[in-house]
Amino acid sequence: MERAIVGFDQDELGDWRAILACGHRQHVRHNPPLVERPWVLTEEGRSRFLGVALECKACDEGEPVSDAMITPDALEAVYRQFHTDLVRFIRPRVADPGMVEGIVQDVCFHIHAQASDLDESDHLASWLSQIVHKVIDNRDRHADQPADLSTADDREAAAPLAEAVKGLVACLPGSYRQAVVMAEYQGLRPPAMAERLDISPSEAEARVRRGREMLNEALLDWCHFEAERQGWVLPRRSAQ
Ligand SMILES: [Zn+2]
Repeated sequence: MERAIVGFDQDELGDWRAILACGHRQHVRHNPPLVERPWVLTEEGRSRFLGVALECKACDEGEPVSDAMITPDALEAVYRQFHTDLVRFIRPRVADPGMVEGIVQDVCFHIHAQASDLDESDHLASWLSQIVHKVIDNRDRHADQPADLSTADDREAAAPLAEAVKGLVACLPGSYRQAVVMAEYQGLRPPAMAERLDISPSEAEARVRRGREMLNEALLDWCHFEAERQGWVLPRRSAQ
């Protein structure tokens, strides 16, 4: 997963590391003749690389950064990216590009209404894919020229959305993020996870459960962020 460089620091040996938006650090050594990165040695050089994206393996593996939540700025970047990912998924599936933002709004409202019903065992990207397709179908019924879309809601069709959800997962605190990544993306059951992390199966189960709760909260939080940014008024959620 690509992550923007937000700063630099040095390890205990004085080697330079890039600090990524996710909080992971990655060595960017100047180690000639093997690795030539003279720019990393000067403040001016480093500043030129701020905002440049690096592939973060640690994110793909769900490696914990720390148990702190990410900074508000980084969170905002994650939320904006989620919007971008949604648009990218929706765009090829509708006939009229002018409909895309309206669809994002409907999707936001649907997520807002349904996020609390989301069950731990639901595959998140499939759940999201169903919502998006439902919204597109609804809109198309009123359009002159319905788009030719597949309504397949299997995991394969949901793959692009899996990336979007993965971005959101990145805002969870360390051990919960790792648990959700292992459960959702690597398909590990709690006993296997427990073995890999050297914790008890009940602890593994608890982390997945809490991680999923946090992810639902992040989805809801995204709805509020997006609504505020776009000037939408979210419908009141019925108290149950
Ligand atoms: Zn990372």
